[in-house]
Amino acid sequence: MLVVALTGGIGSGKSTVSQLFGALGTPIIDTDIIARQLVAPGSAALGEITNQFGPTILSADGSLDRAKLRQIIFQNAEKKAQLESILHPLIRKEVARQLSELTAPYCIIVIPLLIESNQQGISNRILVVDTPESAQLARVTLRDNQTENEISAIMSAQASRDQRLAAANEVIHNDGSLEELKQQVAGLHQKYLAYSQAS
Ligand code: ADP
Repeated sequence: MLVVALTGGIGSGKSTVSQLFGALGTPIIDTDIIARQLVAPGSAALGEITNQFGPTILSADGSLDRAKLRQIIFQNAEKKAQLESILHPLIRKEVARQLSELTAPYCIIVIPLLIESNQQGISNRILVVDTPESAQLARVTLRDNQTENEISAIMSAQASRDQRLAAANEVIHNDGSLEELKQQVAGLHQKYLAYSQAS
């Protein structure tokens, strides 16, 4: 099966694009969703994170305080590596499990930090959602409860547009309407179906 990795910066439109592919019948494996499920209350991964980061990483209801964790790893590369060494192998294993159950001509794996975490080898093709920074900022401000400064800090810690574009096999330009996005997805869907038959 042809495997397409979908990536892009915060607020670039990855979730929106993956929903559009999903609506065309393409199976979607979303590593963000997997990461969230892996740290559900009672999970082994959450136990390990609590061991390594201390019980203050939990909210009052026993769930992971994601905002707090984000803040810690944002300021501390060592802690970030520690967290990744717990989560990444588990995410890889779950991606492989989900892949093994698919029979479609091609599938999409959403990997927000594909470039940053050097995982380019995981897929046959890399699809980048490219969005002007001003649009990312405006859309995330509307979507999330975060300030422009916080969002800008996240954006500057992520790969640049140029770095992503350099790794891309295909690019979706998300600087227009949702209708235009839909048309680009429809075009790529045909392309990937054709590639999957050729491979
Ligand atoms: P990501 O998953 O990359 O963080 P999302 O798909 O959640 O990004 O998009 C960020 C926000 O912008 C969402 O609220 C989404 O509905 C909105 N959005 C994405 N693309 C467009 C577009 N072309 N026009 C208007 N709003 C958009």
